[in-house]
Amino acid sequence: MPYVSHRRPSAGRRPAAGAPRRSRSNKQAIAPGRYVKAANPAQTGDYTAKNDFADFAIHPLFKNNIAGKGYKMPSEIQDKAIALGLSGRDVVGVANTGTGKTAAFAIPILNKLVHERDSQALIIAPTRELALQIEGQCKLLAQHSGLSGALIIGGLPMGSQVNALKNGANIIIGTPGRLKDHVKQGTLKLNNCRMVVLDEVDRMLDMGFINDVRHLLELLPAERQSFFFSATLGPEIDMLIQSFSKDPVTVNVKAGETSDNVHQDVIAYETKPQRLDLLHDLLLRSDVRKTLIFCEMKCGAERLAKELVARGFNADALHGGKTQNRRRRALDSFRDSSINILVATDVAARGIDVIDITHVINFDEPHSYNDYIHRIGRAGRAGRIGHALTFVQTKAAVRF
Ligand code: AMP
Repeated sequence: MPYVSHRRPSAGRRPAAGAPRRSRSNKQAIAPGRYVKAANPAQTGDYTAKNDFADFAIHPLFKNNIAGKGYKMPSEIQDKAIALGLSGRDVVGVANTGTGKTAAFAIPILNKLVHERDSQALIIAPTRELALQIEGQCKLLAQHSGLSGALIIGGLPMGSQVNALKNGANIIIGTPGRLKDHVKQGTLKLNNCRMVVLDEVDRMLDMGFINDVRHLLELLPAERQSFFFSATLGPEIDMLIQSFSKDPVTVNVKAGETSDNVHQDVIAYETKPQRLDLLHDLLLRSDVRKTLIFCEMKCGAERLAKELVARGFNADALHGGKTQNRRRRALDSFRDSSINILVATDVAARGIDVIDITHVINFDEPHSYNDYIHRIGRAGRAGRIGHALTFVQTKAAVRF
């Protein structure tokens, strides 16, 4: 039986369970200088892997699937974390998306599952989009293994998820709110999950999922292997890791706060109409091929996408005010380049892995520097050079 993921898209209108709590009032002031940095790609390309995929003690079918995905050498996080994962250690990975972290945890987990087919793994991600991407990668890596998966995210019907869980999915991939819903109604039992992954832990905490995540972790068996992946660490994350892991090894592959593959700069504007005109001119440039534009609010993203379409651009919007199906359609069109401009909010765009994004444009400034890091990490993926441009309002007349 091929790797089967039990899910069925729907046009469900229910908002995401446990939707993020975010107020506009605690927006951090960020000095514009922090948005300016030249890319230094030589540094990131310098890593020489110590292992070949062939060196890892994994089932030959995974080696075939890895080769089938076109991966030639392990990325740094894979090189450092896969062997630890295979040895059964708890792992804390400090890594951005784009570093290959998904395969770094998926390979040891899938390998364990083919040998222990009656056990399960739980992968928790902060957003539906990230959960979908993890599911997509697991599906390719697990081809012909006979393992099965369940995607437990909001916006999809509970019924098909219940069936997937009843059928004994080996890998349960979900977002905290929907996972909790299933636990509450008794359709998800976690006592057999001997491996757990928390992906983008910092985002999960930012989005207010800490209590849901703690609740889920408390239901797991004590004898288990845990993986925590986060772009940043901090006291709250350290505390979570300490409470829910055993003697973890930390693997840090972050060279700096932001990706060395991304040229960062600002664009100054005075008035809102001027900002729109500057954006218009920018989007006409031939080097600006695939652009992810960030707006702070859903309505702002929707309005800007409509305005760009009216001006003749190939654009769509991605935000939490759209149904799961429409979000997926917008993302698919962006991925396959039927559109080359996607206007998104932070929450909806979190973790997006579209490999050929050339530009990230912060039409509205980010809420925090942490959000900024996540936004610009959507460009410069898989070793490519990307650009991040942030609109910063300046005043011609300053009153002293
Ligand atoms: P991730 O950080 O897991 O979201 O991965 C980012 C992108 O890098 C995805 O498109 C992966 O398919 C790709 N990728 C992951 N590992 C490798 C590798 N060893 N070689 C080439 N591409 C990779």
